[in-house]
Amino acid sequence: MEMFVDKVRITVIGGKGGDGAVAFHREKYVAAGGPDGGDGGHGGSVILRVNDNLSTLLDFRYKRKYAAQAGGNGAGKRCSGKNGESLVIQVPRGTLVRDAESGQIIVDMSTGEDFVLAKGGRGGWGNSHYATPTRQIPRFAKAGLKGQERDVILELKLLADVGLVGFPNVGKSTLLSVTSNARPKIANYHFTTLFPNLGVIYVEEGVSFVMADIPGIIEGAADGAGLGHDFLRHIDRCRLLVHVVDVSGSEDRDPVADFDAICEELASYSVDLSNRPMIVAANKCDLLPEGSDNLERLRAHVEAAGCELYEISAGTTQGTRHLMQVIAEKLRTLPPVTIYEPEYVEVVEEAGDPQDLVIEHLGSTWVITGTWLERLIQNINFDDYESRNYFDQQLRKCGLFKRLEDMGIQDGDTVDIYDFAFEYQR
Ligand code: GDP
Ligand code: MG
Repeated sequence: MEMFVDKVRITVIGGKGGDGAVAFHREKYVAAGGPDGGDGGHGGSVILRVNDNLSTLLDFRYKRKYAAQAGGNGAGKRCSGKNGESLVIQVPRGTLVRDAESGQIIVDMSTGEDFVLAKGGRGGWGNSHYATPTRQIPRFAKAGLKGQERDVILELKLLADVGLVGFPNVGKSTLLSVTSNARPKIANYHFTTLFPNLGVIYVEEGVSFVMADIPGIIEGAADGAGLGHDFLRHIDRCRLLVHVVDVSGSEDRDPVADFDAICEELASYSVDLSNRPMIVAANKCDLLPEGSDNLERLRAHVEAAGCELYEISAGTTQGTRHLMQVIAEKLRTLPPVTIYEPEYVEVVEEAGDPQDLVIEHLGSTWVITGTWLERLIQNINFDDYESRNYFDQQLRKCGLFKRLEDMGIQDGDTVDIYDFAFEYQR
């Protein structure tokens, strides 16, 4: 069976930064060369990219871990390690990325812009950085930092202007197939449609829209009773709903009761969806039994509810072209497809206990390392003033400078925190 996968959990890991090298310049006839160890390369990042040829998250079912390449280690002769290659993960347009723990949206992959999901770690500095006139032989280099690791949920929410809703077998797939390029499965039994189909409808030169056909909604679907529930999220973004009702009563159901049942389903799924603009397509008009008042009753009912009704027969295509023109006209006045704003705010690490820091004193340079410091620095963007300022505040708050003073730091000495170095001023 074809499979439709629209929700997966994956782990993404940025590459570790390469280690800096400890090396010394060697030349014939030169007794003691200076330090020339190169820097480690930066780790690669994990990047998300939209691929419009994808329509499910199926590929992610079989692979759950995505790690970018580590940076190469530095080497002698000031050779820097190679930067790790970034790993590009392709996702269908409309993929929402959520933080696995909180469920909050990190990014909506709908606009087509790449997104860095896990940053690679910075490479460590080689000992050539630590060559100063006063310290000729630093046997000292930095290890590369770990890359960012996160667990996320990918959830596909298709991008369509129009969503078809209705009971199974009312003719939704038939309507999509006769009006668009899509070729969904059509058969006279319930749930032939097992996953959403998208079709593009060309109304006239320069006017087109995307319509989604989802598996039929059945009563209780919004409470998880049936197949329809999960699929409702694929019409969450739709600008307009087209409610297809079998007006012929060919399945011994009443069209008015059907209409109300589906509206209730939508309402119990989300208020937002039940308030979405909706028009009604009274389908299978070709099968309407003689003398039946189904159409009139349904029309009166939906118009009282504030919806317009259009008579069609998807089977014979009668009225379908006109319906598509009406839809295109309505779409003109409606807001664009919803793009979700990010909700997730990255937790910014706070400074921890200064006693957990390792302080190495090399001549006039004080090199600080430590686990929480490493985490803190990963979140700091040194090109950004606010971010740098935050970093400085955290260090002051935790009492690092006090500890350095107790150890005898002088004004003008260098404080070196990973690859961030500054001159100490009291
Ligand atoms: P869906 O479950 O809502 O997608 O319904 P389908 O499009 O799969 O149609 C269910 C059955 O109804 C199929 O046998 C279709 O051929 C038939 N059908 C759909 N629309 C019409 C119509 O306008 N007239 C007639 N006579 N049959 C139709
Ligand atoms: Mg169908």
